[in-house]
Amino acid sequence: MSKHFDLIAIGGGSGGLSVAERAASYGAKCAIVESGMLGGTCVNVGCVPKKVMWYAADVAHSLDNAADYGFSIEQKGFDWGKLIAARQGYIKGITDWYDGYLNDSNVTHIPGHARFVDDHTLEIAGERYRADHIVISTGGRPTVPDIPGAEHGITSDGFFALTEQPKRVAIVGAGYIAVELAGLINALGSEVSLMLRREHFLASFDVMLRETLMEQMVNDGVNIIPRFSTEKVSRQADGKLTLQGGNGINLTDIDCLIWAIGRRPNTDNINIEATAIEVQDNGMIMTDAYQNTNVAGLYAIGDITGRAQLTPVAVAAGRRLANRLFDNQPESHLDYENIPTVMFSHPPIGTVGLTEEQAQAAHGDAVKVYQTRFTPMSHAFTQHKVTTAMKLICVGPQEKVLGIHMIGPGCDEMLQGFAVALKMGATKADFDNTVAIHPCSAEELVTMR
Ligand code: FAD
Ligand code: NDP
Repeated sequence: MSKHFDLIAIGGGSGGLSVAERAASYGAKCAIVESGMLGGTCVNVGCVPKKVMWYAADVAHSLDNAADYGFSIEQKGFDWGKLIAARQGYIKGITDWYDGYLNDSNVTHIPGHARFVDDHTLEIAGERYRADHIVISTGGRPTVPDIPGAEHGITSDGFFALTEQPKRVAIVGAGYIAVELAGLINALGSEVSLMLRREHFLASFDVMLRETLMEQMVNDGVNIIPRFSTEKVSRQADGKLTLQGGNGINLTDIDCLIWAIGRRPNTDNINIEATAIEVQDNGMIMTDAYQNTNVAGLYAIGDITGRAQLTPVAVAAGRRLANRLFDNQPESHLDYENIPTVMFSHPPIGTVGLTEEQAQAAHGDAVKVYQTRFTPMSHAFTQHKVTTAMKLICVGPQEKVLGIHMIGPGCDEMLQGFAVALKMGATKADFDNTVAIHPCSAEELVTMR
């Protein structure tokens, strides 16, 4: 006899937890299957441990400025072990809390690995479970390149498991994870080389953002090596690693190599062949705007769909799907346009909407760009310099704001409210009609000429 639910979410990460909790709040009988830790990537090996490390790096940057602000501080060192213990304690608190929370929300937690038996039946730890609605929210895992010696490297998962701080670190990749990890380990005192296979990192970001950040990271001591294609990794006699680049350049004496070259979807571990779901060549599951797959009653949300792989996106898609299925809100779905995102670099990047390049391709001469670049007051007289750069992309006679891009201290927290304005269709005149807050960097966004 199989057990029956109204909805089962496969994967207890950001997406699965959100859809099941919201559906249960409408009275649906729901379950979550999780083969690892509740909370998924974000809580255990993603946003949360990363942000804790980013805060630590932020403290390190503040210490750099302390003397200029009159503090006489003798820095005696940095205790990696203490930070990691505190971070993991914090995460354990969150994951412990989830169990009680699921119970309180009337969601059944089924620990184990789910495999499809057919479109509406799953097998988990030898038992069969059926559901009218099955949501695939199995996320992804880090990619490792298929080159000799790749196994000597770790991924972001391995980074969060490091109990000792590595001295010389090489990071291969050019996306969010490569850039964020490079910045924070560098600030914490490791010697960091960042290997890009092209000239630049963050290819999809506005050019102003990536150029400003690259300049800042180089000034802060990150060794950025462009056009380095790693062909082989080997272990030296002393245990350290050598990375062999295709251009004849070798990077030697590396204590820790981190692959940050993207993530692959967890569709290869759920026996998806037992269903009629169409899987894309890259393993992602395609859905329509309502998170429907091509099979009735089967849905996909979060990273597995390959669209905007961010926690709030998985959460928002999950909640809206539950609204649609169990609260008679037939139009409830996530609008994937204009999703704000922050790069937790030093300084951070906040960005939403079209880049200048995208705007020009779509709207040509109708585009008007406003931009500014300055040293924020926090760093006006410090020896360690930081740049803030901001850009508004406006279109048409109304100068509708279609893109907001900024890098600088505080831009991570600044973006959310401005993203509301953009989503509501604000124009440059709306920005100008808003009285500035002084003195702060954000005022520049409403006073640009
Ligand atoms: P996941 O959170 O990955 O959850 C999927 C779950 O499914 C996992 O727990 C897995 O164990 C489980 N699972 C897989 N297969 C099965 C199976 N067959 N049976 C049962 N369970 C299964 N996003 C942000 O918005 N901000 C950030 O700052 C940020 N930082 C990040 C930093 C890093 C290092 C990484 C890796 C990611 C970061 N992200 C960030 C992205 C964010 O973590 C993901 O977008 C989000 O976790 C996706 O949620 P999900 O529910 O789709 O998948
Ligand atoms: P990304 O997709 O962001 O970046 C991976 C990049 O690595 C590629 O774009 C590519 O850049 C480069 N790359 C790919 N293959 C190779 C290779 N063989 N050698 C060298 N470089 C290679 O993936 P991440 O793993 O960094 O992050 C995954 C996702 O997680 C992100 O897209 C984001 O959605 C999410 N995330 C969000 C964060 C946040 O919100 N702050 C933080 C961390 C992750 P190129 O083609 O230019 O060479």
